[in-house]
Amino acid sequence: MKAAPNSRVFLSRSSTATSPCLSPPSSQLQRPVRNMSERNCTKRKRVDHGDTDALDSPSSTKNSMPFTTAQKQYRVHSSLLAHKSTVFSDMFSLPQPAELGAGESLVDGCPLVFLQDSKEDVRNLLDLLYDPLKVHTLEGRISFSVVATMLRMGRKYDFKTLWDRGTALLQRDYPATLSKWDSKPKPLIARRSGLTFDVAALAHELDLKYILPSVYLSMFTEYNMDAIREGFATRSDFLTSDDLISCLTAREKLHKAVTQNILDWLHDDDFLNKHDFDSLMLCMEVLGRQARAVLTDDISENLEYLTTKWSKSKLGSGLCPKCSSDARREYENGRSMMWNELPSYFGLEEDEDEDGDEDEDEEQ
Ligand SMILES: [Zn+2]
Repeated sequence: MKAAPNSRVFLSRSSTATSPCLSPPSSQLQRPVRNMSERNCTKRKRVDHGDTDALDSPSSTKNSMPFTTAQKQYRVHSSLLAHKSTVFSDMFSLPQPAELGAGESLVDGCPLVFLQDSKEDVRNLLDLLYDPLKVHTLEGRISFSVVATMLRMGRKYDFKTLWDRGTALLQRDYPATLSKWDSKPKPLIARRSGLTFDVAALAHELDLKYILPSVYLSMFTEYNMDAIREGFATRSDFLTSDDLISCLTAREKLHKAVTQNILDWLHDDDFLNKHDFDSLMLCMEVLGRQARAVLTDDISENLEYLTTKWSKSKLGSGLCPKCSSDARREYENGRSMMWNELPSYFGLEEDEDEDGDEDEDEEQ
């Protein structure tokens, strides 16, 4: 049966099963043909239809009831789901048997589709489909929860637009190259405590490792080692102890490399060779002062040289134009070299596929 225009289905969260799958009633809609972890699906018992949200029109989403029970039903337009998701499109294109099978349900004559996603993801998905303005603040920011839903549901049900938007948001706020980092505008993902750890956990959950170097670098400049340990420990489902060791090892290596590659001119005896005599003493004094100041930086402050372009650092303050120009060149060359090698500090050289490896996704 192809879903008729404006026909509806009910989406219901099932709290009983643990494996990720979506199962339509097989007598009404045959089992989905792709990307649904079908091998993990089991028959489900008939559900209580007493707690239902009707989403008959986009405007009615404002009246959606909160999730107050473990099980919740939403009436949605099958045509909308089919238009946005190839998984739902495939599902709705399958012929329906004439009669209901055991354990299968209709609600008001509509097929019932079971989802095993979190209520937060289901709620966010419905907002994204029916009321997309709702997920943005007036400043255009969007919560991490919604971005996570774009990616989780986008991948699982092949909502291509959601997946593309979610990955674009992550790459915008956590760019992989120095030029994009230095020119990135204000973040679109709303800032809040622990956000960087949540982004790192999501990147591990969905194997989006190409954003991890930039995410970790942000983490290193925001948190000290104790806070990083705590951040990993409270997200141990996806941030393992091995990940923590790799992360802290990279942090130490980066710290040393910043001194050697970005700030080496501060300690270079030859830096002032061929300097004009007039301002030599002045520049020597400035260099000495800056070198002593850098020595007192903690690791978080030290790594900020990697994330801060010369024009926003204060290292050149007080230097003559020639010294400032020379120092800027060495500073930026060091940053460029380190950013080019950034994935290697985390052992992520092979994970730079910014397309998210769609082919593998199809197999999952
Ligand atoms: Zn000078």
